[in-house]
Amino acid sequence: MVRRSRTGRGLFTADRIEKGRCVVEYTGRLLPEAAMRAIKGKYLFKINETKTIDGWQKSNIARYINHSCRPNCEVEIWRGRIYVMAKRAINPGEELFYHYGAEYLDAHIRPKGCMCSKCLQVRRKR
Ligand SMILES: [Zn+2]
Repeated sequence: MVRRSRTGRGLFTADRIEKGRCVVEYTGRLLPEAAMRAIKGKYLFKINETKTIDGWQKSNIARYINHSCRPNCEVEIWRGRIYVMAKRAINPGEELFYHYGAEYLDAHIRPKGCMCSKCLQVRRKR
C-alpha cells in the first residue's frame, strides 16, 4: 500500500511479513553504462559497475520505499535483479524501509539531513 509518510509517500504493508521473505522486487529498465552516466534520476538503482536499473515507473511500487538508517528490509541482488527482503518480522501497517547505501546518502540525504526515525531520535536527544 502506498500512503503518506513523514517524507512524502511511503510503502506500507497490509500483511505480516516473516523475516527473510521477499517483500517486493525493484523493477525497471536496465540501463547500459553510457545511459546511466547521462541520466541523473532519483530512482536509479545500481546493480554493479556496469548495470543500473531505472525504476521511475509507477508500476515499480518498490520505488516508494523510503530510506532508513535502521531499516526493516534489506536489498539482495541476485542474477541482476533487485529484491527487497524482510530483515525482521514486519507487522501489518508498518512502513517499509531499506538502507539506500553510503553513496546515495552522501549525495541526496545528508545535505538535507536524514529524516528516518533513528536520526530524528538522535537529534531530539541533543
Ligand atoms: Zn537516518
